[in-house]
Amino acid sequence: MAQTHRPKQPRVLVIGLDGATFRLIHPMIAAGQLPNLASLMADGVAGELRSTIQPSSEQAWSAFLTGQNNGKHGVYGFQQRRPGTYQFGYVNAASLRAPSLWHILSERERDVIVMNVPMTYPPEPVRGVLVGGLLTPGPQSQFTYPDGIYNELVRECGGYMIDVDTERGRLEDDQLLQLAEDGVRMIQLRANAALYLARTRPWDFFMVVFGASDRLAHKFWKYWDVNHPLHDPQAAQRFGDVLPRIYRELDAAVGQLVDALRDDQTTVFIVSDHGFGPMEKAVYLNRWLTQRGYLALRAGSGLSPGQQANAAMRGALRRAVRYLDTPLVSSAKNWAFERFPDLKGSLYSSMAFSQVDWPRTRAYALGTMGNIYFNRRGREPEGIVAPGAEADALAEQLMGELQTLLDPATGQPVFHEIHRGRDLYHGPALADGPDVVGVKTSSYHVVTADWQGGDEIVVPLGGALHFASDQSGQHELAGILMAAGPDVPRGQPVTGANLVDMAATILYAMDEPIPASMDSRLIDGVFAADALLKRPAQFVDEEAMRTRQSSDVSYNAVEEARLEEHLASLGYLD
Ligand SMILES: [Zn+2]
Repeated sequence: MAQTHRPKQPRVLVIGLDGATFRLIHPMIAAGQLPNLASLMADGVAGELRSTIQPSSEQAWSAFLTGQNNGKHGVYGFQQRRPGTYQFGYVNAASLRAPSLWHILSERERDVIVMNVPMTYPPEPVRGVLVGGLLTPGPQSQFTYPDGIYNELVRECGGYMIDVDTERGRLEDDQLLQLAEDGVRMIQLRANAALYLARTRPWDFFMVVFGASDRLAHKFWKYWDVNHPLHDPQAAQRFGDVLPRIYRELDAAVGQLVDALRDDQTTVFIVSDHGFGPMEKAVYLNRWLTQRGYLALRAGSGLSPGQQANAAMRGALRRAVRYLDTPLVSSAKNWAFERFPDLKGSLYSSMAFSQVDWPRTRAYALGTMGNIYFNRRGREPEGIVAPGAEADALAEQLMGELQTLLDPATGQPVFHEIHRGRDLYHGPALADGPDVVGVKTSSYHVVTADWQGGDEIVVPLGGALHFASDQSGQHELAGILMAAGPDVPRGQPVTGANLVDMAATILYAMDEPIPASMDSRLIDGVFAADALLKRPAQFVDEEAMRTRQSSDVSYNAVEEARLEEHLASLGYLD
């Protein structure tokens, strides 16, 4: 009797190291501390992987997983304005307007396992397993497909952590040390879980993202980086090795996974969604817009007693959510949120924009990167900027003035590139995006929420800042790429690689055609020229690429509060 064996097809293993940077990897490899990454680089190709504009996890991973630019996948920040309002909700997988790589692979009957990729909550059905990543509110929320995977991982692997609690380490040294231990433990549990799933389920595409390289870099950068303005040699004796230790643990996890899962049909990719660098200064962009007359406040503004109470409640809410963070009392939490609807969601917008006089406001900034939105007629509920000539004139004026926003310490512009949104992005979601986009280095952290009550625009980090958290590292464009596999040349550098091109590159490695409507193309230098001659990339006019409508699936109040706390502690809010 004929057996119906499927011929063995090429497979892909992707290990995501969120925010990983060659700033650490190169010197650590030179010092012999990352043997597994070193041998992958020797065995394949490596180079910088340029992130998206902006280099922020939600849009960067969205570009990775859809192979589309922001104008097509529709995600421009952690917060997006809810249509018809000046309220800002959090994005998640339901915000994506283009299909995911794993959706495409599932439709083509390839088996997938996807673990902890940001922007995958709520989990979509796949042919295999999906475990939600960043923007998952917590283990109480159903964050795996199929349901029940979390309990299985806890049972079989000794536990599972979605993320570390970065609120730790804001206060005392032992909390910082605990955060470091949590980071190490999260890496080990994640590696165990990945190995377990890979051994118990079939897969053609396996992907796991480790978040510790990002989370702990935000906190521990200044201890490792002797050139950081806040570097303190004494504190560095305690904490200077935390970040290198995280990288050593990640290297060990990479070694475990590659040893166990790689065979001669498997291409391995190591990627980060963005790089990392020193963060040194805050930039109060909405304050700048106000001083320049683009953003108007209602008469008698300033932080009113009501707002101050609101701010205090915000802090109290975060503590309350932490205190109550056990499944046992979730009903109590729900009770509290029902009784106190003012605590619900939208805390960000209430802080940032409650005093804004919208009918006199032409532009406002949102997020921590440098995105500026016009208060557009027909888009914002009280929009005043007409599309066409009026918007063009405003863009020209604003972009010109933004070039003169200088760092007083260096005399250099804060934004080294300034674009119109429409020059960066294209597609059906273009109209939802920012109108002017400033691109900065890691040095600057843009503050757009907590910005009233001061005049300075560029302020060095330090104790006086009412910052979201005590961070010293921030994202930058230059991420990392390594690849090794049957068609990958050995020991070659790769230059000019872009994150959005990973989707096509992965599909090619799996011998799958690339949807022609993707903004994703093969990365030069990843595959050997003779392999490409023998097997050229195939493109397909895809049925799988129907543009999805994004649905406004909002989190419940407890989930939103928990997310807000988490994102604030990561510095995505301010
Ligand atoms: Zn980050």
